[in-house]
Amino acid sequence: VGAGPGDPGLITVRGLERIRSCEVLVVDRLVPPELVEEAPEDTLVIHRDDLDQDAVNELLVKLGRDYEVVRLKGGDPFVFGRGGEEALALAEAGIQFEIVPGVSSIAAVPAAALVPVTHRGVSDRVTIASGHAADGSEPDYDALARQGGTLVLFMALQRLDRVARGLIGAGLAPSTPAAVVSRGTLPDQEVVTAPLDAVAEAARELPGPALVVVGADIGQSPRTTR
Ligand code: SAH
Repeated sequence: VGAGPGDPGLITVRGLERIRSCEVLVVDRLVPPELVEEAPEDTLVIHRDDLDQDAVNELLVKLGRDYEVVRLKGGDPFVFGRGGEEALALAEAGIQFEIVPGVSSIAAVPAAALVPVTHRGVSDRVTIASGHAADGSEPDYDALARQGGTLVLFMALQRLDRVARGLIGAGLAPSTPAAVVSRGTLPDQEVVTAPLDAVAEAARELPGPALVVVGADIGQSPRTTR
């Protein structure tokens, strides 16, 4: 089940129904605590923080045989959420499951910050990428710089300085508008906008989780005209 981007009001109706009727709830760090409170009192709640991915897969397979388990993940489970890996493990073990999509931060966080990711006549495509590859390698800056529309970068705050330099080195103008949205949709959401060559410094103190948006459509935000 996708929990949505942070504001507990942004889970789906079906997602909330599933939480309210589950016997076991397995949750990630990014999941809003208010949603965990929605589970029945006798639900076993497991925080997965100390478990590696294999252990989580095993746990879901084991518990899924006997109980109604909700695996609650931040945003949408299939967007940088490893939901695909968990679904494969369940399918291989012959455990029935359902995916309840969530409102991903890709859609919700720029919107909550009044930053459109497409804008007619300005940007007609969006590329979603991770600023931080699992194996520690660098993103493909040449491919990202060439794509020509809006870039939305997940997990990029920690190394934004490197990422911005990489994109400029690959050909993006240093003056390209960039925005960092920290803790999007939450009461303490913060937004910093700056040209690409200054955005890392401008966002230095922001807490995570944060989404980085790069592209001309940031100039179309009603934020900048208010
Ligand atoms: N499955 C999630 C993404 C998990 S990866 C989804 O669909 O949204 C975790 C990354 O998501 C964070 O590093 C950050 O880049 C982004 N993120 C998640 N929630 C966020 C929020 N409320 N505000 C800003 N970025 C967020």
